[in-house]
Parts: sequence; C-alpha cells; structure tokens
Amino acid sequence: EASPPSSSALPSGLASGGGLALEDLENNRTIKVGFSMDTLLEERWLRDLNLFKQAVEALGAEVSVMAANGDDAKQIEQAETLIGQGVDILVVVPHDAEAMAAIVGKAHSSGIKVMSYDRLIKNADVDLYVSFDNEEVGELQARAITKLVPKGKYVYIGGADTDNNAHLFKKGVFNVLQRRIDSGDITVVYDQWTKDWTPVNALANMREALSANGNKIDAVIAANDATAGSVIQALAEQGLAGQIPVAGQDAELAGVQRIVDGTQTMTVYKPIRSLADKAAELAVGLARGERAGASRKVNNGKTEVPSVLLPPIAVDRTNVEETIIADGFHTREDVFRTG
Ligand code: BGC
Repeated sequence: EASPPSSSALPSGLASGGGLALEDLENNRTIKVGFSMDTLLEERWLRDLNLFKQAVEALGAEVSVMAANGDDAKQIEQAETLIGQGVDILVVVPHDAEAMAAIVGKAHSSGIKVMSYDRLIKNADVDLYVSFDNEEVGELQARAITKLVPKGKYVYIGGADTDNNAHLFKKGVFNVLQRRIDSGDITVVYDQWTKDWTPVNALANMREALSANGNKIDAVIAANDATAGSVIQALAEQGLAGQIPVAGQDAELAGVQRIVDGTQTMTVYKPIRSLADKAAELAVGLARGERAGASRKVNNGKTEVPSVLLPPIAVDRTNVEETIIADGFHTREDVFRTG
C-alpha cells in the first residue's frame, strides 16, 4: 500500500465520505456534528442531548444542536441551517419520519452524510440508523402484561402515527397478543394513536376507552411513560388506578415512581447512554470517512439502511434496583422519594 498523499496533493473534494476526510485528519480540524432534534420538551430527549454531546466531545469533535419542538417546517429549516454551517455529519431525530426525507438529499448534495438517531427517517437514502430494537420494546410490554392478564379486554394507547417507532412498538405488542386474539382469549377493545405523543391527547383517548367500555377493561399497554401517566390519571378519575395493569416505556422518573407506588406495572428501560455513545462513535467515524460498523439492515421504504439496534430491558418492581438505579439512570432517593 502506498502511503496516503499529503493533503496539498489532494484535489479538494476528492476524498470520499462526509467531507474532506484526509485533510481533516491531517489538519486535525475539529469534526462538527449537526444534531437536529424533534423536541427537547420531554425528559428523555434532554438526556439524549446531554449524553450525545458529552460523547461527541469526548471524541474530540463538537456538536451544534437545534430542536424544533414538533414543528416539521422548522425542523427542516434548522437542518438546512446546520448544513449551511458546514457540519461534517447530520444526525437527525425526526419529528415526522416522512417529512424529514427531504433533508437527506440536501445533505448529500453538500457531501454530508445523515444518521437517523433513535427514529428512522423513511423513504430516503439514510446512511446509518442507530436505535434500540423497538419491536422488542412492544414485545417486552405485551409479554409482561399477558403474564398477569392472559385473558381479557385490552386497551392499546399508541404513540404518534408520524413516528416510525410508534409503528414498531405496536407491531411488537401485536406480535405477542395476536395468537391470544385469534384464540378469543384477548379482545382489543380500544386502539388509538396519540397525536404528537402528547399526554393530553392520550388522556382524552383513555377517557374515551373507559367510557366506551363502561370501565370494563382488564389491561392497558401505553406506548411510553408519558402516555401511561395519562392512562393512570384517567383510571384514577374512575377509582381504578392500581387495579388494572398498565405498561409504559422510557423509565422516566415519574413512570418509575408509579411502578414503586403500584399504579404502573412495568416500563421498558432503554439505556440512553449506550445509544448516545454508539451514535457519537459512529457519527464521528462517518464524518471522518470511516465505514460504519453496522451489523443489521432495516428497510425504510427506499433502501436497506445499515443499522445498529441496542437491546431494551423490561423493568418492574422486582428489578428497578439492579437496572435503572444500578446504572445511575435515576437515583434511589429520586425513585423512592427519600431525597
Ligand atoms: C422514542 C420514545 C419516546 C417517544 C416520544 C419515540 O420515538 O423512542 O422513547 O418516548 O418517541 O418522544
């Protein structure tokens, strides 16, 4: 192998990958990562931002972040701004899986690669997808709840229809429920998306589910802890909180506290630090023109996207201590409110 040519011998733009990889290395120029987020109005995404930023900086690169708080036009505009700022790679948490496809082509025409973070961008040539196994999230929820309620009337409170993850969570739930539905043991008496994942919409849906069924429901699976909180509020209004198993996701502090209190049955814990670390490592690598170490492929409607999917963990009262608390995701004082 010949040694690489010096950067001055390299016609600009010749190096492949996200920008001028060789020159970056030789000039030791700091890699800039653009992070385009849907929202920072929910607990989990603040954690993602902090951990992702830390991880990128630990690799000697820097992050420029923008959050659109649920506004698609704004998220596209912000991503364009990041491209205009000359970031070396664009990492996106799309609010709308389809709407953000527009940004991928724009990034590529500026020589910038695009990583989908946690949520997949659909119908676009996404370079890399780093997330959890989201179908497994739904499977873990349904397995935990069917153990307690093998027969009966189920309510499913889904996530946002515009988020690909919401579809995967639901698919996972029904992977587990389907044979019991077919045998007649389980009837799904209510099944709705939650527009924009907003708790107030989940609350309205859960009230409707209760009134439409004369309060006669046996179990609820909610797509995340924020919507599970609304489910439990609606149950409490009918004096039913703690009497009907409820599943959530994210291991949000309020969700874990409800598990300890006994109003929520379980949550699905996704160690965000692992996601942030993996995404940072691969994003900086891609920006340097390295090949991504992705072991799986996920079809996004346009292409088989190289993907890394981390395992989620089911958490109930029995294992809060050795998972969430042991990892420092929440403190024991916060979880048990003894602080
Ligand atoms: C994430 C969940 C989160 C939800 C709402 C999903 O895409 O995977 O962890 O609760 O969005 O923000």
